[in-house]
Amino acid sequence: MKILLVYPRFPETFWSFKHALRFINKKAAHPPLGLLTVAGLLPPDWELKLVDENVTPLRDADLVWADYVLISAMAVQKEGVRELIGRCQSLGKKMVAGGPLFTVSWEDYPEIDHLVLGEAEITLPRFLADLAAGCPRRLYIPGPEEWADLSKTPVPRWDLLAMKEYNAMSLQYSRGCPFDCEFCDITLLYGRSPRTKRKEQVLAELESLYQHGWRGGVFIVDDNFIGNKKALKEEILPAMATWLAERRYPFTFNTQVSINLADDDELLTAMVKVGFESVFIGIETPHEGSLTECGKLQNKNRDLLAAVKKIQRHGLQVQGGFILGFDSDPPTIFERQIDFIQQSGIVTAMVGLLNVLKGTKLYQRMQGEGRILAESDGDNTGQQVNFLPKMPWEKLLAGYKKVTTTLYTPQYFYQRVIAFLKEYNPPPGRKIQARLYHGLAFVKALFWLGVWDKDRWYFWRLLGWSLLRKPRVFPLAVTYTIYGYHFRRFFLEQTQPAPAPLRSPDPSTI
Ligand code: SF4
Repeated sequence: MKILLVYPRFPETFWSFKHALRFINKKAAHPPLGLLTVAGLLPPDWELKLVDENVTPLRDADLVWADYVLISAMAVQKEGVRELIGRCQSLGKKMVAGGPLFTVSWEDYPEIDHLVLGEAEITLPRFLADLAAGCPRRLYIPGPEEWADLSKTPVPRWDLLAMKEYNAMSLQYSRGCPFDCEFCDITLLYGRSPRTKRKEQVLAELESLYQHGWRGGVFIVDDNFIGNKKALKEEILPAMATWLAERRYPFTFNTQVSINLADDDELLTAMVKVGFESVFIGIETPHEGSLTECGKLQNKNRDLLAAVKKIQRHGLQVQGGFILGFDSDPPTIFERQIDFIQQSGIVTAMVGLLNVLKGTKLYQRMQGEGRILAESDGDNTGQQVNFLPKMPWEKLLAGYKKVTTTLYTPQYFYQRVIAFLKEYNPPPGRKIQARLYHGLAFVKALFWLGVWDKDRWYFWRLLGWSLLRKPRVFPLAVTYTIYGYHFRRFFLEQTQPAPAPLRSPDPSTI
């Protein structure tokens, strides 16, 4: 059997880092970990090829070669999926699809031959058994509350990937989150009880990356890495620390966590010790009423600013997610978000308009209130909402644009970088793993941002400041100048023509 695994094209997003990747000659930020893991579940004697359309063009010859085209996608890849379906249909190729997009909206894809939904460890073996017996069904859905046993998840097939095209590799340690935020679909997809891999599996995955020649960043893709703190502190992080020390720290890590990381000094210290450099935290809003509304209880009744600064002082950069458009947002929310983000020193602040994901508790509520206008396109930073907001749309959109453009103007951005670098304590003894492409990125930054860019004054001021005041953070300061360039370009392109709301329902029906 010949299987072509295809990862459809992504649109440009906040996290695509398109403008920053140019500095380091990479084509994509992260590899398609889900497909590489699925590849590990397929029979070993099958011939496999992987095409990540974000890195390599998909040729008709690849499609013609395959017996089956197997795709995995997230909601934000919808457009790429539609293109791919068209090409497969015109060449008469059979398709098998899985991943979050299809798990939540499989009814929208009648053209797909086989839909293998939910976690592949559960449904893929059922599909493969039926295929071997010559009677594959169209739809494979896990039972209610049927979750995969991660101890059976295989090591991803790194041999299928052109690693050098990516900025970082990926690893999944856990699935599921103990929290239950109203807008989030993670608990819907993976449940509320965090399931984890064994320490032997984590080490085997690190070893596999190492043996395939990877050195550099590893993104731990868990939606909440600290869902099971005890296992992390007692088993996983100590095992990682020994493995990494024996190999002289070939990897650094970043991941996603909840704000209660700030409550656990032991965990913070252990994460920094193994080489975690940054964490993404869903902060969402400084307005307590909106936190109550969306059920983000772990962020309530705490000093969010102090929590962020504590994590930074321990040696971790904090990236933050922020949302505008909650029913409880007061008219002052835009200024409050800007003030909070500036004070926090969260350099990478992803501010998005609330969008309602299918299947979530928020979706049910909005549907009950007759406020759903369309399905979400999965873009966290698009200028669109798919529900009728309480705040007038024009006001919400104008406020959103004001927040994003303000935060990424050079003045605000560089001010935030300095606020962060003042707070940040780089872990003592950590060596910078300099590579050739880092040097090239530095030279490009000097010319591009230091000579050609109209805002070069800010660039030189930051580099001068870090050299004189905190030379150890100089490489990080350079990195942030490149990030800033990406974010400025991204939001500039985003804020060009303002789209109309999806449609205007009759408010009397609400
Ligand atoms: S903490 Fe994060 S992953 Fe967990 S439910 Fe809330 S938004 Fe989702």
